[in-house]
Amino acid sequence: MKTRLMAAAAPFVLGAALLGGFSVTAHATTAEKTAATYSGPFAKPSTLPFHAPDFTQYKDADWQPAIEAGIAAKRAEIKAIAANKAKPSFENTIVAMERAGTLYDRAYNVFSQLTSANTSDALDAIDTAMSPKISALNDDIYLDDALFARVKAVHDSAEGKALTGEDAMLLATTYDKFVHRGALLSAAQKVELKAMNLEIAKLETAFSQKLTTATAAKAPIFDSAAQLDGLSQAEIAAAAKLAADKGHAGKFMLALDNTTQQAALTSLNNRASRKILWDASVNRTSGADAYDTTAMVTQIATLRAKKARLVGAPDFATYQMYDRMVKTPAKAMEFMKGFVPALRATQDREAALLEAAAKADGQAIKLEPWDWSYYAEKVRKAKYDLDENQIKPYFEVWRTLEDGVFYAANKTYGLTFKRRTDLPVYHPTMRAYEVFDADGSSLAIFYYDPFARSNKRGGAWMNNYVEQSYLLGEKPVVSNTLNIAPPAEGQPALVSFDNVETMFHEFGHALHGFFASQKYPSLSGTNTARDFVEFPSQFNENFATIPEVLNHYAKHYQTGAAIPPELIAKIEAAKTFNQGLGLGETLSAAMLDIQWHQLSPEEAAQPPMAFEAKALAATGLNTDMIPPRYKTPYFRHIWDNGYASGYYSYIWTEMLAHDGWDWVVKHGGMTRANGDHIRKTFLGQGHTKDFAELYRDFTGHDPEVQPMVEARGLAPKAK
Ligand SMILES: [Zn+2]
Repeated sequence: MKTRLMAAAAPFVLGAALLGGFSVTAHATTAEKTAATYSGPFAKPSTLPFHAPDFTQYKDADWQPAIEAGIAAKRAEIKAIAANKAKPSFENTIVAMERAGTLYDRAYNVFSQLTSANTSDALDAIDTAMSPKISALNDDIYLDDALFARVKAVHDSAEGKALTGEDAMLLATTYDKFVHRGALLSAAQKVELKAMNLEIAKLETAFSQKLTTATAAKAPIFDSAAQLDGLSQAEIAAAAKLAADKGHAGKFMLALDNTTQQAALTSLNNRASRKILWDASVNRTSGADAYDTTAMVTQIATLRAKKARLVGAPDFATYQMYDRMVKTPAKAMEFMKGFVPALRATQDREAALLEAAAKADGQAIKLEPWDWSYYAEKVRKAKYDLDENQIKPYFEVWRTLEDGVFYAANKTYGLTFKRRTDLPVYHPTMRAYEVFDADGSSLAIFYYDPFARSNKRGGAWMNNYVEQSYLLGEKPVVSNTLNIAPPAEGQPALVSFDNVETMFHEFGHALHGFFASQKYPSLSGTNTARDFVEFPSQFNENFATIPEVLNHYAKHYQTGAAIPPELIAKIEAAKTFNQGLGLGETLSAAMLDIQWHQLSPEEAAQPPMAFEAKALAATGLNTDMIPPRYKTPYFRHIWDNGYASGYYSYIWTEMLAHDGWDWVVKHGGMTRANGDHIRKTFLGQGHTKDFAELYRDFTGHDPEVQPMVEARGLAPKAK
């Protein structure tokens, strides 16, 4: 679930929202020329339905000229807006910015999917060459005084104040983005901010590089294979090879996973070996050696706190959360604390259960953190005995898609799907569909690229080739990409149940794209906040196990027999096991993240591990036994990849999905009436309203944690 969310999160910004950036540069004249003379395959919209990409037309040599021309054209368009002599108006400034960048979007939306899903050395090289130019385009705009002067004039004008609905939201989000990036600061402050941003970016990169090096270097060494008893022959062979590669021939090394918990802990029979592996994991970057990141953490946290102070925010968490559904760090903390009583009780109950399991195993031990996963795995095997090979024959990929995922969308939203073999694809194993609305009108084009390849990055995601917008006259062209193991020649592609859920998950994002019904591209479809965008997708996962849906698609690929209900019951029961660790480690990491970013510059300078200890104690969870999924010195999400004050989003959107599903169950389940309500209240709304308001429109109340507490098995289900 976590990797799926992570991997899926990035591509949502591939569309117009990312390039809500514009600028004027000294090279504008050259740029205009480049744009004006561009005549490649993206010069005009594709002639295919919905301007779908014509993959037969693109050659490697096309990309760089197209993207460069797109950047140049956008710069020129923005320059014209900033230099406009006419009085600033909503139309000639804010809406004009929405119209800018169509050439860029047309080319880049295709390019970015190809570099993710079907790349080559040539595409990778272009990607590397283009990415600084793209960030420069995006960065320059927000500190462009002339442009911001016009945006602010509209924002402060009577015209601006009188706007309503989607227009008002567009003005507010555009203005807020500028302010967030420091547009209101004085010239001297802007210089200071730029220097701070540069320093922070350098430190973040340095942190990330050191963590990568440390994680490789701190792989623990074992003298004998006997110490690794419990691992498979293949795993032991891999450990021997790793040791030999690192100059320790004859010994064994276990590569460290990124997380605190290590996969090998579930099977290492030797308790001393488990402790060695555990210590290597939790101490990887806090050992007062060349791999220690704690000084960097202090510097990053301090600089971020200073930056927040400079831009006038109470702390960095508040600064980061300006555009989120959960608007303040206090609200995020309050939400997370809502889980603590039930979760702490679950942790204590599970700890006792595992200690009893150890005793039954002849080990009268006091349970330690490195024992948890080992005994949890023993209990899981005894209690649930789930064999993936028993399950997979019921889930063939295309049947799951067409008779399951599409079927649920038909029953709920009235959608129908028609295969379009005439539309070009970039890989022969893909399929293309036309999506029809309940009234029979054509709604969207949908591509499905399910199989893993060596030139596809991991995870699963949704992206838009064309973003819906009434302003630009565009309908959605959407794609789902997954990493399901490809079938052997002539065999059906069978899918694990985890991947079945991923299929429903990604399709939830696709629905968010299909139902987009917005005027402005930057507010359209999935262009929503980080702590909202994973709500529709997780919500859609619920359809996978509705009996009516399941019976329609989960059929044995050879016999056609429906999946036995007891197998489903086992899958469902296994999901609620070991949540003291599962939810516990995520929740404590998320609370640690927020607390780090609520510090003042002075507080951020305290010794980081002492602060972490205080922050974890404040969670109320048993973090000695179950430490956070990432401890401070190796928490890459918050120190380098943009999740600072955002790690809670995973839990928040899951909570929305459970609470939202609770509404569906209480209102008659999978019905067309409920589908229409879902579409009308949030799935078709993009970012036209405040996210909390969208949610209340849907369920009639603010979100509540109880349905997730029950779904995660932390408390018995209310009748
Ligand atoms: Zn997702």
